Amino acid sequence: MTPAYTGRFAPSPTGPLHAGSLVAALASWLDARAHGGRWLVRIEDVDRPRCVPGADETLLQQLAACGLVSDEVPLWQSRRHDRYQRALDDLVALGMAYPCACSRSDIAEALAARGRSRPRHGELVYPGTCREGLHGRPARAWRFRLPPASRVAWTDRRLGPQAQDVAAEVGDFVLRRADGLYAYQLAVVVDDADQGITHVVRGEDLADNTPRQILLQRALGLPTPVYLHTPLVLAADGQKLSKQNGAAPLDLRDPLAALQQAGRVLGLPSRIGDAPTALGDWLQHAVHAWRAAWPARGPTIGA
Ligand code: GLU
Repeated sequence: MTPAYTGRFAPSPTGPLHAGSLVAALASWLDARAHGGRWLVRIEDVDRPRCVPGADETLLQQLAACGLVSDEVPLWQSRRHDRYQRALDDLVALGMAYPCACSRSDIAEALAARGRSRPRHGELVYPGTCREGLHGRPARAWRFRLPPASRVAWTDRRLGPQAQDVAAEVGDFVLRRADGLYAYQLAVVVDDADQGITHVVRGEDLADNTPRQILLQRALGLPTPVYLHTPLVLAADGQKLSKQNGAAPLDLRDPLAALQQAGRVLGLPSRIGDAPTALGDWLQHAVHAWRAAWPARGPTIGA
């Protein structure tokens, strides 16, 4: 029988766990336990050039030191290229993926010619140059052909009703990059489905990827999980805390203190239980506090 709830934490091994990434790890674990569900860890190392050798093992050790252990053997994306290619082949067969010859500067020029050059999060909205064919230019990447109705509305358990017109905000997005690597959007959708993920709990910086992922799920006939995007830990510069702006790796001499700090970011009471000093006790109390703060809700996907 398929369990009613399967959640996951899906870190990219670009560095060790820090105060920001622990928030998503803890939230996804608490939500799984609060639902009596499974919690899986997936190592998202599909973007090999960004990965740091050994960071995957470090992440798993750090999670274990915090009492967060995957209910199944973790999945490594770098071992699943054949699966991603099959999904891409399926989309090609459906007419929903096409090869693209455009470099970044080609895209910038095409946008400038239309008077539209504003990048979004540093990404350019793809103007659809190769939609109707390559016209003799060599293929570099593969893109998703957005369906005519590409406005996606969905409800996040924390952020509430959300909507994005993917054609206007993103355009036909990349599924396989010019360097041959599969894009995060494709890998995450295939993996969430193959692992039977019913609930995605992850950082708010990923929220605006959700509409692209919902469109891919629909195209591939895959179920859409329920989403909850957690608050971000901000660095002194106001940006999301990350390795790039100085996030220190978690100090595992005191994992309980790190968990308590993550719990505060998640809005859990600062004193949980009767000041438990054992990690396992704190986690158990935190599950109850989480259940009170985030009651279970069903899927709420609109069109
Ligand atoms: N690998 C992504 C990250 O570390 C998370 C992807 C996801 O949870 O969907 O930012």
